[in-house]
Amino acid sequence: MLAFPSSYSVGITSLGYQVVWATLARRSDVDVRRLFTDRGDAPHRNLDLFGLSLSWELDGPVLLDLLEQQRIPIWTAERDDDDPIVFGGGPVLTANPEPLAPFFDAILLGDGELLLPAFIDALQACRGAPRPERLRRLAQVEGVYLPSLYRPRYDSAGTLQAIEPLDGANEPPIPATIAKQTWRGNTLSHSTVITPEAAWPDIHMVEVVRSCPELCRFCLASYLTLPFRTPGLDDGLIPAVEKGLSATQRLGLLGASVTQHPQFDELLQWLDQDRFDGTRVSVSSVRAATVTPELGRILAKRGSKSLTIAIESGSERLRRVVNKKLDTDAIFAAARYAKEGGLSGLKLYGMVGLPSEEEADVEATAALLLALKKATPGLRLSLGVSTFVPKAHTPFQWEGVRPEADKRLQLLAKRLKPRGIELRPESYGWSVIQALLSRSDRRLAPVIAAARGQHESLGGWKRAYKAVLRGEGPAIGAAVSRLWDTQAPPPWDAVVHGTWSGEQVLPWAHLVGPLPPETLAKHRTEALA
Ligand code: SF4
Repeated sequence: MLAFPSSYSVGITSLGYQVVWATLARRSDVDVRRLFTDRGDAPHRNLDLFGLSLSWELDGPVLLDLLEQQRIPIWTAERDDDDPIVFGGGPVLTANPEPLAPFFDAILLGDGELLLPAFIDALQACRGAPRPERLRRLAQVEGVYLPSLYRPRYDSAGTLQAIEPLDGANEPPIPATIAKQTWRGNTLSHSTVITPEAAWPDIHMVEVVRSCPELCRFCLASYLTLPFRTPGLDDGLIPAVEKGLSATQRLGLLGASVTQHPQFDELLQWLDQDRFDGTRVSVSSVRAATVTPELGRILAKRGSKSLTIAIESGSERLRRVVNKKLDTDAIFAAARYAKEGGLSGLKLYGMVGLPSEEEADVEATAALLLALKKATPGLRLSLGVSTFVPKAHTPFQWEGVRPEADKRLQLLAKRLKPRGIELRPESYGWSVIQALLSRSDRRLAPVIAAARGQHESLGGWKRAYKAVLRGEGPAIGAAVSRLWDTQAPPPWDAVVHGTWSGEQVLPWAHLVGPLPPETLAKHRTEALA
C-alpha cells in the first residue's frame, strides 16, 4: 500500500509519489495499491508494506489517521509479526525524521531510484522471518534508517547528548550513522499518470534538474539533494517530453532551478517549433538572473501567463548574506523580459525573518516592488512572502524563527496593498508549527499523536503540546516509551526560536547529509560575517 497524506488530486500531482508508485508497480514481485485521504484502491488481505511519501511537515498527523484506517498500530513498537512494515521517504523525512520516527519502521533517506529496489530486495530475502529479524536485516541496507533500533540519550536537563544504536553488540551490528543515498543516473523522472483529476489537470511533468548549485543558505531543495544533476537533452529530456506530449498538450518542467540546466536554451528552442502550437508549457520558479527575452517570449507563446522568480529580499545586503548572488538590475531585467515577451504577470517570492534581517531590509523589499511596478507598467506583480523556517542539513539549521517576522509581514502589507501590489503572505503562526516539526526530536511524537483531529488549527497544535506537557497526552505504552527517555515534549521556545550553538547535538546528528556539518558551519559563519 502506498499512501499520500492528502486527496487524490493533490497526491497524483506529486511527481515523487508517482515515481515511487511506478517503481513498485513495475516489479513482478510487488502488487501495489494506492491510498489517499479521499479514496484508495481496495486493500490487500495480507498487507506486507505500508509506504508514505511526505513532502510537507504539517501532514504528519494524517499518517496516523491513514494507519488507523488500515487497522495498523500507529506506534512502531506496538506492531507485531502480522503487521506490515511501515516505511516513508521524501524531503521532510530525509531532512529530519525524528519527530515522526516512532511511527515508522523504516525511513528511506535519499533518492528512491536507488533505495526502493535495495529495500524491497532486502525485504523479500527475509520475508516470513520474525519482525525483529526483518528490521535488523533492513538496517543493513545503505540509506535505510530503522528508528526503533536507535535511542536518544539526554542529560538531566533534557539536552540531547547522542542518538545511538540500541544494541551494537548483536550481529549484524546496527550502523552508528546512516548516509543519505544519491542517484547519479542519467535520466530523471517524469509523469507516469496523466489525469484530468490532478490539481494541474492533464499535466505531464518532467524533472529537468535535481538539486540546485546555488546553495542559498536556507535552502533545503539545494543542500539536501546535492549534487546538482541534469539529464542529457537528446537522450533524457526530449524523449521524456515527447512521451508525455503524445498523450496530452500540457507540459510542466519541474526542478529547483530548471533554467540552470546547461541546455535549457536548446530545450526552449525545441519547444518553439510549430508542431507544439496548442501545447501549454509551464515552468516552476526560475532564478531571476537566468531569465532571458527568449524565455519570456516562448513561455507566453506556449500559454503561460506569468513567470515566478524568488528574490528573497529587496535588500542587496541580505541577498549577499543568504548567498543569493542576484543583483537588483537582474530583477528589473527579468521583469522587463517577462513583459516584453508577452507575459502578463510576474510572481515574486520573498522571505522575512532571515538571520541578520533589519526592518530596513524589509523596507527595501517594499521599495523594490514599488520601483518594479513603476518600471514595468501593465505587468501584474504579486509577492508571496514566507517566514524563514530553519531546515536540517542547511547552514541556517542553527538559526531560529524570529518573532519580528510577524510584524514584518504586516509591514509589507501596509506598504504594498494600498499601492495595488498583490501580497500573498504565509501565516507566521503556521511557520512556527513548521519549525517545531522541522527541528524537534522524537519527544515531539506524542504531541503529533495528540494533535490528531485538531491539526488543521494553530490552537489545536498548541492545545496538543500543552496537554502532553501536563501529562495528559495520548497513553503511551512501555514498549513505545523505551524509544526515548522522557515523555516531556522538547522545549517549544528553544526548538522554534532558539539560536543553537555549533556544539549542540542535533536531533539528526546520526543522519549523514550531502555536506558535513563543518562545511555547513563554515557557510553559516561566512553568511553572518
Ligand atoms: S536559487 Fe532557489 S533553489 Fe537554488 S539554492 Fe537558491 S533558493 Fe534554493
